[in-house]
Amino acid sequence: MEDNIPEASMKCETRRAFLALCSPKTRLLHDPVFNPDMVCGHPNPAGLGDAGRFSQMGSWGQSSVLFPLLETYRTADKCGKAPYGGAEYGIPQTPEADAVCRKITALHQGYGAVICPSGLSAIATTLDAFSPKAVLIPDNVYGPMLRFLNRRRIKQIRYPAGASADEFRSVLLKARSLYTQCADLLVYIEAPGSGTFEIPDLDGIIAIAQNARLRTVMDNTWASHVRFQPLEHGIDIVVQATTKYEGGYGDTPSGVVIARRPQDLQSIADELRATGNGAVAPTTCLRLYHRIDSTEERLNQHADTAQRLIGWFLKQPFVTDILSPTLETSPYHERFQRYFGKANGLFSAVFRPDLPAKRVETFVDALNLFWVAESWGGHLSLVLPVHANREVTPLPDGYILRFHAGLEDCQDLLRDLNQAAACLLK
Ligand SMILES: *Cc1c(COP(=O)(O)O)cnc(C)c1O
Repeated sequence: MEDNIPEASMKCETRRAFLALCSPKTRLLHDPVFNPDMVCGHPNPAGLGDAGRFSQMGSWGQSSVLFPLLETYRTADKCGKAPYGGAEYGIPQTPEADAVCRKITALHQGYGAVICPSGLSAIATTLDAFSPKAVLIPDNVYGPMLRFLNRRRIKQIRYPAGASADEFRSVLLKARSLYTQCADLLVYIEAPGSGTFEIPDLDGIIAIAQNARLRTVMDNTWASHVRFQPLEHGIDIVVQATTKYEGGYGDTPSGVVIARRPQDLQSIADELRATGNGAVAPTTCLRLYHRIDSTEERLNQHADTAQRLIGWFLKQPFVTDILSPTLETSPYHERFQRYFGKANGLFSAVFRPDLPAKRVETFVDALNLFWVAESWGGHLSLVLPVHANREVTPLPDGYILRFHAGLEDCQDLLRDLNQAAACLLK
């Protein structure tokens, strides 16, 4: 526990002192300064900070749905839909969930959507609905996806993180010699990867998969509906961790699956109904429903701040590279411009390989506004080491830290980086 580490409780005071000198905007996001021990590490104990700005409405969250007559119930039970919206039993697909799904479907111009209790469960539900024997995945795929595939004994076939169409084709050819039935293979795309941000030739891969009559699924969490519309590019099914940018304040654990074809949506909905895995708190749905509307506005601010932080990192003698397709020097810059156009709040910094890990970690622990935490897309700035599991795409040498630029005042973030750099260089 934290109380074994005196530095951890002292850090609370350091943060308080640092925050006292920040702009009102940054203070509003981080106030009150809390000891993570006291709130179990949760940054929104009561809709803290800015989270209430978009919605703190109550919820239904009731399991039994009432019917006036047996016949009304029978009809609803048959199709899994109540006449009031939502399911015939209020656990999966509540009316609040339906509302979110309608909105996200419209934003992606899909046929329909379902909502799941996490981004990972959106991925799991999709794969379970089609139960392929093997999945082609990019080498930089979201880590927990690998755990899921192992658990289900689904064979992973990796293609390079920034694959060209030719590189993807040769991996697919090999896969097809092992798995001859179309239903046995699924093509999975995630771009840019969320730790190192490579971008493969999306249109090339989609065309090859379509020619081979393989189902395509894309994890669009990095981009959200604002930066990329996979269905428009021919993807069959989109998954998005709405835990991240759509919710935006770290208090909407959820994921959506959007399908272009009625049969695919039906399979996914049947999977949810069979497993009961579609239960998402109506409070979460309500928050999400309103926050989705401000995704673009927030994304733009995350992106602007990230660009300024990248500018700072590029000037530091202890950094050898910045991983971000927004940079003209990135090998993925052309694809970035073609597909996404604008950034989000993420980037990674590669530290000089001769720098001892301890020095880099001194830098991390000296930060006040960047919390050490998993996930991203929320109001608070975050930092985490990138631990990648690679098979076919090598990583750059040196300690890699991933940053998420929050909604704080950028000047305060820069001031924080400067004082942490002084600790590293000491
Ligand atoms: C976070 C994330 C997920 C999973 O979302 P959770 O809601 O945390 O389960 C999936 N894909 C990507 C790319 C992510 O970053």
